[in-house]
Amino acid sequence: MKTYRSACPLNCWDQCSFIVKVKDNTVVSIEPDPAQKITGRFICAKGRKHISRLRRPDRLTFPLIKTASGFQQTSWPEALALAAAKIKEALSRYGPLSLLHYYDSGHGGLLKNIESRFFSALGGCTVHKGSLCWSAGLAAQTYDFGAVLSHALDDLSNSRLIIVWGRNPAATARHQLPFILKARQKGARLIVIDPLYTATAALADEHISPRPASDGALALGMAHLIIKEKLVDEVFIRERSSGFAAFRQMVEDYPPEKVSAITGLPAGHIIRLARLYATARPAAILLGYGLQRHSNGGNTIRAIDALAALTGNIGVPGGGVSYANLQVAPYIDSDYLEGEDLKPQRRYYPKPRLAAALQHQLKEPPVQVAYISRANPLVQVGDSAALKRAFAAIPFKIVSDQFMTDTAAAADLVLPCTAFLEEEDLYYNSMSHCYLNYGPKIVDPPGQCRHEYEIMQALARELGATGFPQLPAEELLAKLILPLTREKGITLQQLKAGPLWLPGAKSIPWRHGPFATADGKFNFYASAAENEGSTALPHYQAPRELGNSRLHRQGFRYWFVTPHPADSIHSAHRLPGESKKPQVYLSPQLAEEHGLAQGDRARVSSPRGFLEAEVSVSPKIPPATVMVYEGWWEHSGAAVNNLTSGELTDMGNQAALYDCLCKIEKV
Ligand code: SF4
Repeated sequence: MKTYRSACPLNCWDQCSFIVKVKDNTVVSIEPDPAQKITGRFICAKGRKHISRLRRPDRLTFPLIKTASGFQQTSWPEALALAAAKIKEALSRYGPLSLLHYYDSGHGGLLKNIESRFFSALGGCTVHKGSLCWSAGLAAQTYDFGAVLSHALDDLSNSRLIIVWGRNPAATARHQLPFILKARQKGARLIVIDPLYTATAALADEHISPRPASDGALALGMAHLIIKEKLVDEVFIRERSSGFAAFRQMVEDYPPEKVSAITGLPAGHIIRLARLYATARPAAILLGYGLQRHSNGGNTIRAIDALAALTGNIGVPGGGVSYANLQVAPYIDSDYLEGEDLKPQRRYYPKPRLAAALQHQLKEPPVQVAYISRANPLVQVGDSAALKRAFAAIPFKIVSDQFMTDTAAAADLVLPCTAFLEEEDLYYNSMSHCYLNYGPKIVDPPGQCRHEYEIMQALARELGATGFPQLPAEELLAKLILPLTREKGITLQQLKAGPLWLPGAKSIPWRHGPFATADGKFNFYASAAENEGSTALPHYQAPRELGNSRLHRQGFRYWFVTPHPADSIHSAHRLPGESKKPQVYLSPQLAEEHGLAQGDRARVSSPRGFLEAEVSVSPKIPPATVMVYEGWWEHSGAAVNNLTSGELTDMGNQAALYDCLCKIEKV
């Protein structure tokens, strides 16, 4: 038995460090690495599931070419020659912009991102801007603070009040929960704001359930009262912020009665919450990502940031508005990774609009070859039916994956790639902490699986793309962390010794010195937001579909929300047979209204498509809301993005996936 260190590659807040035991080229156990302070005591079932996933019989183990009679096994030389020929033909006839590179976060390894340099070495490509999950919030916090930084989790022990706003750590960030509960034991009050009665809400002192997409109005209503009752931190506002006068004038328009009508919360509750937040200092806010997946999502985050600034809950122990923590990324050589030195041509489209972009925008030149990795866009991107049609029209599609996902099944060439533990890589993909983990190659992959880096190296040789590195993986990793080595003295050798906390990472962001905005202040009024097409002041705007009377007339009246489940992470992780059957969750009132009972089969539809699944009646769901967990594949019958749209949020080129009204009926 041999023991190694590695880390979880999943797109999870926590990024656990692992101790992996291996015998006879087989992973025997995955346990938490006690050297990691945050995740060292336990890992979740998703982490343990890696063991069986590595050896699942349905793992893709050799390249596949689609023929008239279905997929046929082929050899790597043949597969690479075909891919190279298609790319070469597209380059010569239409140029590099006819190549589409689509990727996402299905695997958190740093080396997987080197594909971007491959396309730059070919002259460029068409690639997305923005994201499906979090970029509205990133844009919002960048406008307000200049950068996106979170408080260290152990700083919660300094908080007197913790507001978990739209985040469900009990299901999706399990290692944050002990820090929250410990602070509560020390006397902090815990409030959860979430339309759904989540597992975290069940642990709180108070659960506040505003209507979906009304959180921004709630924050502005709280700001209105805090200013009116002179509960603001005048020193912070005077010395560390800009634009307060304009903000104060704007929030006059959000009195508690008006906000009550928008949120569905009694005005007295809004007033009490505002007073509590302003007086129970220091107060920490932990933001989730669901509340910014609406067409007003970026402004929602900005309104909540403003609350913290008003009350001086910024830069103080126990305070902050923690959304994400991008402290490690600046120490990675992203310019090299992206191939900026190769001066590539690039054509951008907003990621959530992939279907519409393929149908209408990406015409000159048309996309000829698509390369997809770490992603399953045919069920992950909104308006899936339109995307399936547009995807089918691309002449040649290459998908690299470990399993035959919906997207792989629609490809012309499928390349089997390695999983973590079968390859060497570096992991720093936590959204909340600042650990880096090195993961060695521990076991051989099954069949003929190859690391994407090797696939790209081979293709680069075939295509004469000399700008792509042909270095061993270890040397490339060392090159990619050169900024970390130069500025923090951390080498790959040190990272090999075990999980390492980024030296100098800030536990309490913005405690000293200026903010990273242009004027060095917290921006209540952000000209940068205005310059990029949003508004300088955060504001509340009703979500797009809510105001559509035609939809209401057609019966589309209920919010369709698709949060992350506890047992899986996105479709890349929800493999056939691994989860219980999909379910449609709805309140007893809504079930009764539609004659639905527990176990019935229901159809949930939007103007774009539908899904069908078994009904689960739950008092945890608000009355006008239908909930289905995300990640289901098409064959399950419950692929949620058949219903969602390809619309964008108000900033950050992000998918407004939760702006979706639906109707429900018994099948
Ligand atoms: S999914 Fe998250 S909590 Fe579970 S093992 Fe991976 S990083 Fe840890």
